[in-house]
Amino acid sequence: MPQAKQKLVIIGMGDTGVLCAVRLSRQFDVTAITTKTSLVSGQELGMRLTNPAWWRKHYKISLQRYRRLQGVRLVHGRAESIDIVSQHVEVQLAYGEASSVPYDYLLIASGASNGFWRNDRISSDDEIEAGIETNAERLRNARKIDVVGGGPSAVSVALNTARQFPESTVALHFSGQKLLRGYHALTQDYYAHALEQAGVKVHPNRRALLADHQIDQLGSGQLTFGDGAVVESDAIVWAIGRMRPHSDFLPDELLDEQGFVVTDLTLQVSGQNNLFAIGDVAATDPLRSSARNWAYRVLAHNLGRCAKGKEPNRMFRPPSHRWGSVVGPQDDGLRIHSQSGGIQRLTRRLVDRLLLPLVVRRIIYRGVD
Ligand SMILES: Cc1cc2nc3c(=O)[nH]c(=O)nc-3n(C[C@H](O)[C@H](O)[C@H](O)COP(=O)(O)OP(=O)(O)OC[C@H]3O[C@@H](n4cnc5c(N)ncnc54)[C@H](O)[C@@H]3O)c2cc1C
Repeated sequence: MPQAKQKLVIIGMGDTGVLCAVRLSRQFDVTAITTKTSLVSGQELGMRLTNPAWWRKHYKISLQRYRRLQGVRLVHGRAESIDIVSQHVEVQLAYGEASSVPYDYLLIASGASNGFWRNDRISSDDEIEAGIETNAERLRNARKIDVVGGGPSAVSVALNTARQFPESTVALHFSGQKLLRGYHALTQDYYAHALEQAGVKVHPNRRALLADHQIDQLGSGQLTFGDGAVVESDAIVWAIGRMRPHSDFLPDELLDEQGFVVTDLTLQVSGQNNLFAIGDVAATDPLRSSARNWAYRVLAHNLGRCAKGKEPNRMFRPPSHRWGSVVGPQDDGLRIHSQSGGIQRLTRRLVDRLLLPLVVRRIIYRGVD
């Protein structure tokens, strides 16, 4: 009689949960606990707000459309707690009841919130659609747009809004001296120049005062700064990179002081042979960069070995600088910034006809119907 497959439970089906699931669904009996019934990517916030039709097509995809998820049990709900002794996850289901899901291996891929566009709430597809539309419309109708933050999300929103809505006034406020901390100096300079060219008013060394609830919505009204200055705005986008890990369902012993999951280079949770973590919830390196940098390959390989009774033997080695696209595809193509500050530009035609359908959907995600 063939041996039963081991049970793998994945918590969170965002960018990394799906990337791992499509690689492990044949070897394991996979159950995925997911607050959303689609992959709602955190990528390309600027495009999501300024070109929601394009963004939806590429970054909000029903989980049922992924070919390699066909045999995966999708549980629409939220993990509420785990018991690492009895190896169970307690789940609040989307429609009221609770359920207990057993596992042999557990993968934590629950991400983090860093603004209104990412959360750990149970949501229907209709609610997500409505949110995307409402926010895009609010920005489209705003005459004065203020973006707060100096990281890639903030730069992406400021540059895309300035280019798409040239009749609006766009300002970018951030507390540091330089934009894009963690990127190479050449990349930082490139975007300082691009923002200026697009007419964005860039205000470095300017700390905006934040009320707790504000970060979770695209607001409007008064924006107050530490130096006492106040501006009136039609749309305020908070993108200050304040990461709040989605980890309240995990025992404290698995978490660091900020609530991120402590992992080894193998992407195993430290001290736990059958728990793995990846993506924004995982404290893999100072930039917590395992959602990028091909970490899903390391994880799938190591988990696969564990299931065969072997030791994990691949290590996640993050780069020293951030790299990749910052603002998404523009009319003149997609710029990919290397760790050493170099730029590779792919034409829009190449992105829309080859990169996204063939490389991303067919090769990286192993087929999307
Ligand atoms: C090219 C590129 C561009 C990017 N641009 C941006 C950008 O503009 N803005 C930005 O913010 N980031 C951006 N990023 C970062 C990227 O979005 C994140 O690093 C990535 O989404 C993290 O993936 P994740 O799987 O860790 O988390 P997520 O994709 O956030 O997925 C986590 C999922 O788990 C769910 N979940 C949470 N808690 C539970 C629970 N208890 N039970 C069940 N499910 C749960 C969440 O609701 C969510 O669906 C970019 C990355 C790249 C590569």
